[in-house]
Amino acid sequence: MKILLVDDSRAMAMVMCARLESFGHEVCHALNGQAAIDLFQADSFDLILMDIEMPGMNGFEATTRIRALEGHEPWAWTPIIFVTATDTDSNLVTAIEAGGDDFISKTVSEAVLQAKMKAMSRIAGLRSRLSQANRKLQDQANRDGLTGLLNRRAMDLQVDTQWELSSRAGRPFSLLMIDVDNFKLYNDHYGHLAGDECLRAVANCINQCVQQAHDDRTAQGAFAARYGGEEFAVVIPAVSAGVHAGLAACLVEAVASLGIPHEQNADFGVVTISIGGACIDPAAGHVKTLFRQADELLYKAKESGRNRAEVC
Ligand code: GH3
Ligand code: MG
Ligand code: MG
Ligand code: MG
Repeated sequence: MKILLVDDSRAMAMVMCARLESFGHEVCHALNGQAAIDLFQADSFDLILMDIEMPGMNGFEATTRIRALEGHEPWAWTPIIFVTATDTDSNLVTAIEAGGDDFISKTVSEAVLQAKMKAMSRIAGLRSRLSQANRKLQDQANRDGLTGLLNRRAMDLQVDTQWELSSRAGRPFSLLMIDVDNFKLYNDHYGHLAGDECLRAVANCINQCVQQAHDDRTAQGAFAARYGGEEFAVVIPAVSAGVHAGLAACLVEAVASLGIPHEQNADFGVVTISIGGACIDPAAGHVKTLFRQADELLYKAKESGRNRAEVC
């Protein structure tokens, strides 16, 4: 475990450090409550061993402050054990009230200390598995099951955040609305399962182009999402002139170049997409205007023959 040991006595801390290290743990030492809070904010620990009597901020107060700093996620909790010379009943009650989880005496025997650390290691392992599982769940909740792209919910949240940031930074914000051409006919002709496979391939192609534009810094922070059905969206939160038009043209070309046969798609013979792209300065317009403009231009791209991008 990685342990944060808080004790104002260097001599006491040295002894405790040596004992804990001999059990195989890594120990960081804080000489007072404030130093403990600073270390807690800068790093993550599996356990905190907290002295009670310390000049300035005592262990109870440091614990209360650390608890207040912990994240709001239910698994963001670090066990805190008080270590003190005076293990009275009233100290124990105050320690638990302050947010501590257990209480040991400074004169604790080697065997008891080792046993307690073993129990805490089990809890640390459990917390780590729980937090991994939660991260996985959170990621699943943000992704579309078919394509693996961000889903509509995650996209809306991202748009809100990025719009705000672009607004403050005075950067133009761009949105590309993408729709697969004659996709109903694709399903009717090739079947729904083939339709799913096709959507996966198109999503993957869009995502690769967007990643490339992100990586080569032409459209930093850009991301693709499944907007719904056979519709996708690309959000470019900080865009420079011409970039969104270039990326839109690139996407149209890339999807057609996949060469997925689509006999019913006009004269193209392969799966194609149409794109409506808009770009506005967040300070001068509303995010709804951006979506409306992109939608209108997508409609225009469809009207003008599909397999193309209309961008303003
Ligand atoms: P347009 O070129 O005007 O966009 O024509 P379209 O046929 O693509 O448009 P329309 O909205 O009429 O049809 C969209 C089709 O997309 C209908 C729907 O069954 C299909 N679709 C939506 N989501 C999925 C999906 O997850 N899997 C499959 N296989 N088909 C889907
Ligand atoms: Mg002390
Ligand atoms: Mg559609
Ligand atoms: Mg369509």
